[in-house]
Amino acid sequence: MRKQIVAGNWKMNNDVKETKSLLKNINKGIKKMSLKNKKVIVAPSFTNLNTAISVTKNSKIKVAAQNMNAAKNGAFTGEVSANMLKSLKVKTVILGHSERRAYFGENDAVLKEKVDSALAQNMKIIFCFGEELSDRKDNNHFKLVESQIKNGLFHLPESAWKRIVLAYEPVWAIGTGETASPEQAQEMHAFIRKTLSEQYTPELAENISILYGGSVKPANAKEIFSKADVDGGLIGGAALKADDFLAIIAAL
Ligand code: PEP
Repeated sequence: MRKQIVAGNWKMNNDVKETKSLLKNINKGIKKMSLKNKKVIVAPSFTNLNTAISVTKNSKIKVAAQNMNAAKNGAFTGEVSANMLKSLKVKTVILGHSERRAYFGENDAVLKEKVDSALAQNMKIIFCFGEELSDRKDNNHFKLVESQIKNGLFHLPESAWKRIVLAYEPVWAIGTGETASPEQAQEMHAFIRKTLSEQYTPELAENISILYGGSVKPANAKEIFSKADVDGGLIGGAALKADDFLAIIAAL
């Protein structure tokens, strides 16, 4: 049975004090919820990971990083390795977010290296991908998504996939207030599952969690999550307010 997940990507937001306060409020709300077969993840910036790990020590919240470098160590000023994350007890990393792809030149080849490096350190990965508006207008969105998954992940053996969660995030819906309709999300998620089934096995395709990301809010979460192939969400803006994030978790 695949896991239902809500993951909050905080991006470059929150200092230490705000991290503590937001997590304490999320923690308080989560204590009252039954999270059977559900997982809650937050991804603060590198500087707040240590704080986040200590504040969530006895809670149901898991902490992920937003990025990592593929290299083990060395002369890469400003970068953070998988090993460093693991030493903080951070076991999950988001890779391939559209902002990393667009602003930091992370193409499929770079991401493939990062995927291999994270897996070599036994980390779990939330692998993001999604089309630009122009791809959708050109009716190229299925092909584009297929190529992003293929180039980043299809070199992996079947056994590696138990460490991977997919996040379909149409770029035109991220931070724009414009959400893919539940039907558009379902259509793409079903396509992704079909692609995985053809490349690997129907079992693998059936068991992988596929999250939707792009302007998910308390008001639209339930309808999006109700779709058969949507297993939760990767949340940006709405993950920065405890009440909104909790309402989205409750919608799972
Ligand atoms: C994201 O950045 O992953 C995201 C989905 O952002 P938002 O929810 O703000 O659209």
